[in-house]
Amino acid sequence: MEVKTSLLDNMIGVGDMVLLEPLTEDSFIENLRNRFDHNEIYTYIGSVVISMNPYRSLPIFTPEKVEEYRNRNFYELSPHIYALADEAYRSLRDQDKDQCILITGESGAGKTEASKLVMSYVAAVCGKGQEVNKVKEQLLQSNPVLEAFGNAKTVRNDNSSRFGKYMDIEFDFKGDPVGGVISNYLLEKSRVVKQPRGERNFHIFYQLLSGASDDTLRKLKLDRDFSKYNYLSLDSANVNGLDDAANFRTVRNAMQIVGFMEDEVQSVLELVAAVLKLGNIEFKPESRSNGYDESHLKEMCELLGIEQSVLERAFSYRTVEAKLEKVSTTLNVSQAYYARDALAKNLYSRLFSWLVTRINESIKAQSKTRHKVMGVLDIYGFEIFEDNSFEQFIINYCNEKLQQIFIELTLREEQEEYIREDIEWTNIEYFNNAVICDLIENNQNGILAMLDEECLRPGTVTDITFLDKLNTVCAEHQHFESRLSKNSKFLTDHSLPHSCFRIQHYAGKVLYRVEGFMDKNNDLLYRDLSQAMYKANHKLIKQLFPEGNPAKVNLKRPPTAGFQFKHSVGTLMRNLQTKNPNYIRCVKPNDKKAPRIFTDSLVRHQVAYLGLMENVRVRRAGYAYRQAYEPCLERYKMLCKQTWPHWKGPTREGVEVLMADLQVSTEEFAYGNSKIFIRNPRTLFSLEEKRRGC
Ligand code: ATP
Ligand code: MG
Repeated sequence: MEVKTSLLDNMIGVGDMVLLEPLTEDSFIENLRNRFDHNEIYTYIGSVVISMNPYRSLPIFTPEKVEEYRNRNFYELSPHIYALADEAYRSLRDQDKDQCILITGESGAGKTEASKLVMSYVAAVCGKGQEVNKVKEQLLQSNPVLEAFGNAKTVRNDNSSRFGKYMDIEFDFKGDPVGGVISNYLLEKSRVVKQPRGERNFHIFYQLLSGASDDTLRKLKLDRDFSKYNYLSLDSANVNGLDDAANFRTVRNAMQIVGFMEDEVQSVLELVAAVLKLGNIEFKPESRSNGYDESHLKEMCELLGIEQSVLERAFSYRTVEAKLEKVSTTLNVSQAYYARDALAKNLYSRLFSWLVTRINESIKAQSKTRHKVMGVLDIYGFEIFEDNSFEQFIINYCNEKLQQIFIELTLREEQEEYIREDIEWTNIEYFNNAVICDLIENNQNGILAMLDEECLRPGTVTDITFLDKLNTVCAEHQHFESRLSKNSKFLTDHSLPHSCFRIQHYAGKVLYRVEGFMDKNNDLLYRDLSQAMYKANHKLIKQLFPEGNPAKVNLKRPPTAGFQFKHSVGTLMRNLQTKNPNYIRCVKPNDKKAPRIFTDSLVRHQVAYLGLMENVRVRRAGYAYRQAYEPCLERYKMLCKQTWPHWKGPTREGVEVLMADLQVSTEEFAYGNSKIFIRNPRTLFSLEEKRRGC
């Protein structure tokens, strides 16, 4: 049996960074570049896959490729995302180990495409049959629906996911998919009302206007012209290479396959139209009571079956209900606009969550028996912009948690293998980012807790009072030399600009501007508006605003955005911890969205904050390379007279004879129960060289 250690056979650079000699950041990047220049977009660090975005279609995702990688060992073929998918799937099917695929990287690095490649690979290699095919179709078609509503064109990516997604795919004992569950995280809802320059709103708005029939648009009271809508940015409405009209048909079709009824699709589109109408409602300072641009308000009310006077009133007054009394105050013009935008954001993000719930209803497994599970996580990567706000803070917190899991699980997995194989093992020092997670999430004085406290505090509270509080608590802790002391990750120095704080994340220092923190965390919608929505004669919108039910007036504040996120990230982490992790680290080669360009500094930056060098070092600090005795003997038996051409005894003994004969220093390797562990890649290189010389 010829077993290829293709890492070494691979002529283009080194297929596994663990074997890179010498290991420096420069050589690491040079290896990535070399491989990228030759269309080798995948490179391993042990079992971790680094994926470079090629920004063009390569002929490596064909059905033939699927066949090539099917049922093959990780190291037999050149690095590929299919190898990881195959390994994960087989381990799930044959060894009954639940898996998760963790895909990280910055915006535009290729996470979503990678997640789809994994899903389509698994769909291709698992069972067939009418029922199974239907499940597969539904799981795959949930993607275009969620992308239409949750993705947008940004400066960094023409199809940027503006939400985090985790999908559990469930399999029966044979390894056939039986269903799935999707969780979504923090949709960037501010985009609904305002987009940064050069960016667009969520795809669905443009798709609907471009792709719907004249008749549909008439029913929705919409005009095809994007420029008629305040919420749609004009400077980048048409994106090269994006066919909104064709995509609308794809989305309609996908909704049908996933199982949406015609009237549900209609309701969803009515809500999308209502958001556009909302954006066009204008409030004028003079004659407040009848100062609206009536037509949009009227049309929105018609679309949603709301009495016009009810909505008008909700935009004019704010009622605060305390235990014993109700107090109404008049909204001024800017408060009315604030209320309008808050309603648009809430409406859209609740619609998005409803879509996820509705898809889940369709794709959930029918039987209640225990299933094997493969989770796929496609979540926003670290964000370090010039101006970082609440969203970046939350996203970066999530990445800290993922890094923690990465450290925990990679090291744990490594350690467990050594224990299984009876190999002596010394712990490896690594940077544990638990202290940063604690700084953010600690229940007493973590930043999120302090933010919540400030949001709830009576009196005049502002973003600046929140910042003052952060700084005070930080100073106190410094005084007591506590966790926020010298090794603090909460950085205070005199160069901090006004109204900012800085955190030393594992991926680098990030400066956060507190403006908007309180508002975004509070995420308040005036009760008058939720009650107006609840009064609508429209099944879906009523369902989206249950708190507007006057019979259920709840004086308790809804949980803050930060609290909710922390909670859902906690649940996600617990879920991931029960599974065997598989990592795909996506890297963006340039910021031009262009093929064939490899920008050194950009890649270097990502290599640093993805912690890839650390990853290789951890892998190499133990035993860099391991191979089962049989393939090892097969590969190197020609190097020793006693083992060539056939070794008759147990394979382990054969390998022992071989290594003794080759006089490999005993410190360089260890014999495990089923594998040989080789410490230094150089040992492997020299074996390979000898083999070539034979
Ligand atoms: P975001 O965080 O913004 O959602 P992302 O990491 O999910 O970004 P993708 O949307 O997956 O990034 O990829 C961005 C674009 O890069 C894709 O639309 C596609 O044009 C290109 N791309 C990514 N991966 C591949 C690939 N394997 N082959 C060809 N093109 C790719
Ligand atoms: Mg994405």
